[in-house]
This record gives sequence, C-alpha cells and structure tokens, in this order.
Amino acid sequence: MSMKGKLLVIGFGPGSFEHITQRAREAIQESDVIIGYNTYVDLIRGLLTNQEIVRTGMTEEVSRAREAVRQAELGKKVAVISSGDAGVYGMAGLVYEVLIEKGWTEAAGVEIEVIPGISAINSCASLLGAPVMHDACTISLSDHLTPWTVIEKRVEAAASADFVIALYNPRSGRRTRQIVETQRILLKYRSPDTPVGLVKSAYRDREHVVLTTLASMLEHDIGMLTTVIIGNSTTFLYDGKMITPRGYQRKYTLHTDEQALKPHERLRNEAEPWSLNAQEEGLESEEVEAQATNPAELAAEALQLLSVKGLASATQQALPQQPAVRSKTVSIFEIGVSPGIANKKFSARQMGLLAELAGEQGELEYTPHHQVILRVPTDDAQTIVARLKQHSLLVFPIGDTVQIKACDFCNLEKDEAIPVAEQLNLMFGGRQAPKEIKVGVNGCGMACYGAVMEDIGIVYRKGGYDLFLGGKQIGRNAHAGQSAAEGIPAERIVETVEAVLQEFTEKGHPGERFHKFFKRVGHVAGFNYKEYIAPVAVDAVCGD
Ligand code: SAH
Repeated sequence: MSMKGKLLVIGFGPGSFEHITQRAREAIQESDVIIGYNTYVDLIRGLLTNQEIVRTGMTEEVSRAREAVRQAELGKKVAVISSGDAGVYGMAGLVYEVLIEKGWTEAAGVEIEVIPGISAINSCASLLGAPVMHDACTISLSDHLTPWTVIEKRVEAAASADFVIALYNPRSGRRTRQIVETQRILLKYRSPDTPVGLVKSAYRDREHVVLTTLASMLEHDIGMLTTVIIGNSTTFLYDGKMITPRGYQRKYTLHTDEQALKPHERLRNEAEPWSLNAQEEGLESEEVEAQATNPAELAAEALQLLSVKGLASATQQALPQQPAVRSKTVSIFEIGVSPGIANKKFSARQMGLLAELAGEQGELEYTPHHQVILRVPTDDAQTIVARLKQHSLLVFPIGDTVQIKACDFCNLEKDEAIPVAEQLNLMFGGRQAPKEIKVGVNGCGMACYGAVMEDIGIVYRKGGYDLFLGGKQIGRNAHAGQSAAEGIPAERIVETVEAVLQEFTEKGHPGERFHKFFKRVGHVAGFNYKEYIAPVAVDAVCGD
C-alpha cells in the first residue's frame, strides 16, 4: 500500500442508493475518512462501515478540500463526497486547486481518483421524460463566485443558440432575483409557452416534479434543491412528459409516426439542407442568409433551407397541430399515390389535386414502381389522405411494405386477371414486411410489365396463373424469379401469395430482401429454392 494516501473524489448521484455507481460504493467502503457536507454524509450514511467522518457546513468547501488533502498526505484514503457528479459544480475542481497550490504532481504527490456520478441534469431529465436529448448546457445561477455579467452572457448565448438549458442553483433565500432576470432574457428568444420542468430533490424523499412553461415558471416553488430544465424551440409536452425531439425534422407515412431515412438517403445534402456540407454547396448561390440569432428565426431559417433545397416545408404557423402533441419540428408526410392497380392513367383533375397538395413547398416524385410519391410538410396527414381518396386515388404507405405492381392489362382490354390483382392489393397492399416486397401481376404470357423479375411474380395465362419467386430486379447480378408453379387456379392464387408473405413476415430478418430470404431458408410455402447457376465467364473475343 502506498504511504502517500489517496483522494477519492466521489459523485454519489442524486441521492438514492440505486443511483450510486458500483465504483462509488466501493470507493466509499475502501476509504478511511469521509469528508462532506452534512446533508450528503446523511444521504450515504447507510453505506458507511467504520469510516471516520469529517462533517462541515455548506460554505466551508475550501476548508473541506484542504482537510482532505492534509489527511491524504498523512497516508489515509480520503473520500470527498459531492452530490451528483463531483466534477459538476462539485468538489473535484476545488480539490485539484488546493493540490496545485501546493505544487502537487501526479508522479510525486498523493494519488487522486475522480469517480463519476449521475449529475442533476441527467437525474432530473429522467423524471421529466426526455427533455435533454439534443444539445444542452448547464448554467449555475449562483453569483457568489461568478460575476453576474458573465452568467447573464451565458444565459443570453444559450438562449439565442437554442440550447436546452439546465439551471443549477437557481434560487436561494438571498439570491432571488437571478431566476427572474434569467426568465426575462430567455423570453427575448424563446416562446412564453416553451416547456419548463422544475425538479426538486430528484430521487430523494421530498422529490417534486412540476411541468410548466417559461411564462409561468416563477409561479412555482423554486429553491436550492431545484433544477430548472428549459426546453429548446422544438421541445413539447405529451401526456405529462417533456420531450425534445432528436432533430428539427421528421418524415412519416401512413400508419407510422416516423419514417427512417434509407441508408443511401442519410447524410445526403438534399435530406439535410441545413448541414455544413449542404450550406457550403449552396453558398455561391447565396439563396439563404444564415446568421439568424433568435431561435424563432433559426427555426424559420431551417424551414427556409428546406424549401430552398427542394425538400420543402411550410412555415411553422401554417402547420396544423395535433391536440396532444405540440411539436415544432418540421413534419414531412410522404405517401405513394396511384390512379389504380390496373389503371395507369391519372385524370387531369387528379393531377390538378396532386399539384395543389404539393403546393409551393412539397414535391412529387415519379418512381419506377407505378406510383407517384407525394411529400408535403404537414402534421395533418388525414386531410390529405381524405382528399386523395375523394378523387379516387389509391394511397400507399412508403417503406418496408407489400406493393402490388400490375400491368395495364393491354389498356384494360385483356381484363380477366384484373379482379385477382385488385384483390391482392386489397388484402396485402401496404402490409408491413421485413423489407419492401413487390408482387408483380401481369395479365398475359407476354408479361411485358416484368412480373417475372419481381420478388413474387404472377403471370396469367388462359387456364391459370404461373408463379415466380425470388426475382432480383437490380444490380449486375439481376435475375428473374424461379418458376415455382404453373396453372394455379384463380381461386387459389390469393391464398398462395398469402402463404408466401406470411412466411416471409414471420421468418425474414429485418431488412432482408425476399430473394435472399428464399435462398437462406431454402423453401417457402412449400416451394423449394433451386440454386441459381451462374453463367460461366468467358473472355469472349469480339466477333468470335
Ligand atoms: N454536483 C451536483 C451539482 C451541485 S450544485 C450535480 O452534479 O448534480 C447544486 C445544485 O444542483 C442544486 O441547486 C440543484 O440545482 C442541483 N441538484 C443537485 N442535486 C439535485 C437533486 N437531487 N434534485 C434536483 N436538483 C439537484
């Protein structure tokens, strides 16, 4: 054992035993002396064995640190305890200051270990919901050791940059004006209805949680044991919880709240027009004047960037808001639209409606999959869907779902298989799957809409339907599906497709394409996979 002693600077978390880390417990147990503020020693009393206790009052932090160093230099293991994390307005920095004053070095001086703990920003956030989530900062309103002018500047900076803010030491018996001033500064930048959480004594006996707003926060009790968490411009309240979204934009489709970007869409400038890369790209055109300082302006600026780059958005005010959720993120609703399963022709009225719904801010994407994707910034998907349906348009969710791709049945003239195609769509179109899966239905043996190349291909011939499984449309090794069955009668085709889809849904891995799945499992719905024989590569000489 070292004769030099050791300083263990311990953050013991918010106050409850379950939230003390294992290392903090061990450190308390292995120490000879515990030094801390009275209340803190009481909080961890249950963990003490026979340690000597040096209790001091609140304001004697410097003498506590000095005493700790002195005892460690005598060769003892000294635990210095702080609530939360010892490095956040705690004892860690102070202990180092005392050591440095004495010319301490790691090599020659006493050993020191700083043991991390759960700070109030984290413990209080967990009781409120998920208010931190995004960029956040802590500001202590105590102006005992920090000039108020500096604190004021920090509040101003954090408010203007749309940080979530955790205010420590917000108010005490004598310091009552600081929180009032802080509120005044925040209101210059943030809406009066910005959600604010007040958490008193998190994870202690007198725990008390209040959800309020920036405008009315001062009507509640705020004291020495309170942490105040101020939301950013997108923070919202939902069912008694305070939630800050992960970003300033979300995409959603029918039946799902959030639409993940596909891997190839992520990190692209079009999808993230506010990113540094996208802005650099756009700088020469000077379409957007950045440098907004007010969060309302920041949000407006983000919205403007979206519209400038084509993936557009409306202004915040124009977004209808759902009753329970008050989210200020930009919501982009996307939906697949087509005039019919067999019918490929949009009427002029339908086109007019699509143009109207897309408006200045939305977009219409022409896809190779028999549908147009409409993307519009809105929280009110219902109205859009209702209007599309009123105009006899079919709507489809975007994402990993089942999609029916039929041919036009020779302008609806070879129409025998149309009811089957429509029934397949009615039953399976839009259904969730491990990965998007396309069912091609072609109305004659010409199969000119390429059903044979789809994941599931169905080709009508007089007398029955031929089934193809596991086509791969794209890539250099694209291939047709395997001929699985011929002459399936009309009345059995739906159940056959159902059996295939069901097995894929049950056994497919998330994100696994159907052809890979078929190869992996070897058989689906009674149909066996046959190994595909790759053509022999020949260095063919031209003209040979
Ligand atoms: N080192 C501590 C902070 C000490 S400063 C930490 O990391 O959490 C003291 C301030 O911390 C208090 O005024 C209060 O704002 C906050 N605080 C500490 N413990 C708290 C708790 N259990 N509940 C709410 N706030 C707390």
